[in-house]
Amino acid sequence: MAMDESGNARSEAHESAFETCNAGKPAALLFLCDHASNAVPPGLGDLGLCQEAFSTHIAFDIGAAALTRHLATAFDAPALLGRWSRLVVDLNRGADDPTAVMKLSDGRIVPGNREADVAERVARYHAPYHQAVEAKIDEALSQGLLPILVSMHSFTPVWRGVPRPWHIGILWDKDPRLARALMDRLSREGDIVVGDNEPYSGTLENDTLYRHGTMRGLPHVLIEVRQDLIGSEQGLAVWQKRLEGVLRDALHAMGPSRIDFSRPLALKNTKGSPVMDENTKTELEAAAFRKLVAHLRERHDVQNIDLMNLAGFCRNCLGDWYREAAAGKGITLGKDEAREVVYGMSPADWKARYQKAASPDAQAQFAAKPPHQH
Ligand SMILES: [Zn+2]
Repeated sequence: MAMDESGNARSEAHESAFETCNAGKPAALLFLCDHASNAVPPGLGDLGLCQEAFSTHIAFDIGAAALTRHLATAFDAPALLGRWSRLVVDLNRGADDPTAVMKLSDGRIVPGNREADVAERVARYHAPYHQAVEAKIDEALSQGLLPILVSMHSFTPVWRGVPRPWHIGILWDKDPRLARALMDRLSREGDIVVGDNEPYSGTLENDTLYRHGTMRGLPHVLIEVRQDLIGSEQGLAVWQKRLEGVLRDALHAMGPSRIDFSRPLALKNTKGSPVMDENTKTELEAAAFRKLVAHLRERHDVQNIDLMNLAGFCRNCLGDWYREAAAGKGITLGKDEAREVVYGMSPADWKARYQKAASPDAQAQFAAKPPHQH
């Protein structure tokens, strides 16, 4: 255990950067609450602000922590909550984002942040939280679960003098799976004004869901609830029940969790800064796909049925994935046309040339498997 100069155990700071709720529950669903707390670590005093500032939205997301805990318990799922105020360091920003440590918040200067040691703040209060999220996801994956991430926030009803009409905002980037299902379900309530990427946009790179959801291909959504709705115990009781029902239905509508990359695959970078631009990433992914196709063309001795039995996919699946991707861009391809991209000839020609009669063993194995989905 490393000690700092004052003799304090460093691991204490590490452990106190976040709080886990229902730690022992399997994370098929993982709740996150970046802005749960208005507390400031003892060493940082009051950041030069008056006490009153800490009861406002600039310090934390009012009601969000209680709502997160309720949902975690209702869904029998774990939750990770930030332990310190967003004014110390904003957990929903990349570590090198200039707004991670805010010098100005909603028009108010934060004196204690003017000369802040940002690297120190990140190391003590930001990195451990995100490592904990990562570890929770890894643990779930090792148990065969593909966690669905639900990040809970709340927003101030009036921003710069302008009242906000939305009751609830659904924030998302490029993965519509849970966001769409939630917005549809919320709209059916009839009396809820739903924000689609309002009052904020969910497309900020390197925010919490970008890092843990988008980059890992896991379904995710950020739910913003207007603070006046959940600022009192009475309101909280009403809205946590309503949201619980809505989320349950939306998860059901979304269907089983799968890994789906909605953005190009990124290299991991501990600082969260981009290693290369999105086009370059896409080109590298395409290069890997071309190599795979070339390999399969050379290895025509490898039979589709054996691929299916062993790995649950075959050349036809690759062709169908290509076709689906084209359809996503509004380009209609025939089944055989798309599969030809993989085979390098018509699938019928390939079959005539290279397909061998499957052994009874392989046939029995294939028949015993549930029909695969693409
Ligand atoms: Zn927030």
